[in-house]
Amino acid sequence: MCNACGACVAACPTNAISIKEDTFSCNAVIDTNKCIRCGLCKNKCPQLTDVQFYKSINWYQGWSKDDSIRKKSASGGAARALAESFIHDGGCVCSCVFEKGKFIYVLTDNALDIEKMSGSKYVKSNPQDCYEPILDKLKHDIPVLFIGLPCQAEGIRRYVPEKYHEKLYTVDLICHGTPSRLFLEKFLNEHEVELNKLNDIKFRYSHEKRDDSYKFIDYKGIMDRYSIAFLYSLTYTENCYKCKFARGERASDITLGDSWGSELSGEMTRGISLMLCQTSKGESLIKKSELILKDVDLKRAIDCNPQLQRTTSVPSARMRFVDDVNLGKGVNRSIFRYLKIACLKQYVKKVFIRMHLIEPVGYMISYK
Ligand SMILES: Cc1cc2nc3c(=O)[nH]c(=O)nc-3n(C[C@H](O)[C@H](O)[C@H](O)COP(=O)(O)OP(=O)(O)OC[C@H]3O[C@@H](n4cnc5c(N)ncnc54)[C@H](O)[C@@H]3O)c2cc1C
Repeated sequence: MCNACGACVAACPTNAISIKEDTFSCNAVIDTNKCIRCGLCKNKCPQLTDVQFYKSINWYQGWSKDDSIRKKSASGGAARALAESFIHDGGCVCSCVFEKGKFIYVLTDNALDIEKMSGSKYVKSNPQDCYEPILDKLKHDIPVLFIGLPCQAEGIRRYVPEKYHEKLYTVDLICHGTPSRLFLEKFLNEHEVELNKLNDIKFRYSHEKRDDSYKFIDYKGIMDRYSIAFLYSLTYTENCYKCKFARGERASDITLGDSWGSELSGEMTRGISLMLCQTSKGESLIKKSELILKDVDLKRAIDCNPQLQRTTSVPSARMRFVDDVNLGKGVNRSIFRYLKIACLKQYVKKVFIRMHLIEPVGYMISYK
């Protein structure tokens, strides 16, 4: 059930815990020689303890007033608009960046760093090193905004003692699950791309948001097999299939996602963020940010976003797929074996894109 949030690692007074990541799992491993049985790790773990969930007090859809922010973001750029406003008001922001092959968290009060955070990384990120620096800022009375996956946001909230919660703001993403970094690395290696050597990697593409300096795994507009398997939920780490955060009530101040099913269809290719606001703290943050806010049809938003209703279920082919990859049968080959129709559809799509009959848009890896 471990989600690798690292709250236990940060809380352990004897450094007895480390996270062991595998291709399809992650686990907190305790060195029993160092463990003093204080129980702090269990106490801080979002998986082993009950989580307090809250109903949203307000729902919005919208996008950043700044077109360049919207262009660089995965959907409407709400995350960056919130982050910039928070820094402008004297706070620090902590979120995920891609750096030297890793998806790590940085804590910053510099608006220039915020740009590097933009974009959804469809892979498990590692927040382990940000716990102590966040607490340190809070102890010095500096507000902190944490933006990350729901399990990680809860890890941070648990690690920080309650007396500092007033200045801690959490934004979580609607999330259907994450493959491990090791799985992504394996996939890229089969395409002779080394993750460690990349300057940047993106997981979504649209014509409006394009940057011609990036290369594609497959033909532009064609979903590569990593993205296909991601969307079909075949490749997540084990814990994601038991996720307790995939529901309408949330544990954060603000939740961000895509406004799937929006009636503002003309705006969709440029990106529309869905924003769920659980607290008055969150509400004031949204109102202060440079965002264009619109009403949202609540029922439609929930209907179009399964992760606001339930946890991703395990695909029937999952076990055989995991066995094949672990036996060295190849990531690309194994994805094709179990998601044949979805993979074959991409060949048809390629023909249509070449004939300029459809736009190249959607989930696909591009890199430089
Ligand atoms: C793994 C994953 C699964 C998702 N699944 C869904 C879904 O099912 N439905 C839905 O509506 N939305 C989903 N999203 C959210 C969506 O992709 C957008 O991130 C969201 O709409 C916010 O968009 P934005 O334009 O405001 O910001 P973005 O440009 O997407 O930036 C989002 C912020 O989140 C941080 N971030 C990005 N990737 C990660 C990561 N792997 N770990 C931690 N932090 C990260 C960035 O650093 C940035 O601060 C998912 C996101 C991720 C990362």
